[in-house]
Amino acid sequence: MKIEVNQISIGGSILEQDFSPAALELEIDIIKFRGPIKARADVSRITNAVTVLLSLKATMYVNCSRCLKEFDIDLNKEIELNYPVSKREPKIDLDPDIRDQIILDYPIKPLCSEDCKGLCAKCGKNLNEGGCSCGTT
Ligand SMILES: [Zn+2]
Ligand SMILES: [Zn+2]
Repeated sequence: MKIEVNQISIGGSILEQDFSPAALELEIDIIKFRGPIKARADVSRITNAVTVLLSLKATMYVNCSRCLKEFDIDLNKEIELNYPVSKREPKIDLDPDIRDQIILDYPIKPLCSEDCKGLCAKCGKNLNEGGCSCGTT
C-alpha cells in the first residue's frame, strides 16, 4: 500500500487494500490466517508530515498452547503512524509497517479460553471435554 504524498487531497484521502498473508510473509508454523488482511488508511498531510490512521482487520487461527485445539483470533486494530515528508521520496510504502503491526499482535501463548484445562499429562485426553479416569483412582 503506497501513499503518493503529492496526491493526498486537502481533506485527506482514504486508501483500502486487501493483503494476502503470504505476500506479507506473515504466516509462520503456529499462526495462520483465514482469508485476506484488510487494511484501510486514512491519510492526511500537515505541511511536513503525513499522518496515517491505519486500521487492520484479519482472522488468525492458532492452536491453544494448553489443549492444542485450533481456534480463531480476530485481529482488529487501529494505530496512528506519522511519516516525515521528503522531497526526494514522494511515496510512502506502508507495507513494512502493516506487517510489523500485525506481528506485534501475535499471541505468544494462545489460549482457547482463560480457564482452559489443557490435556491430561497421563492419557492426553482434552480435559475441557470432560474428566478422565487417571486422576480419580
Ligand atoms: Zn485450550
Ligand atoms: Zn487422564
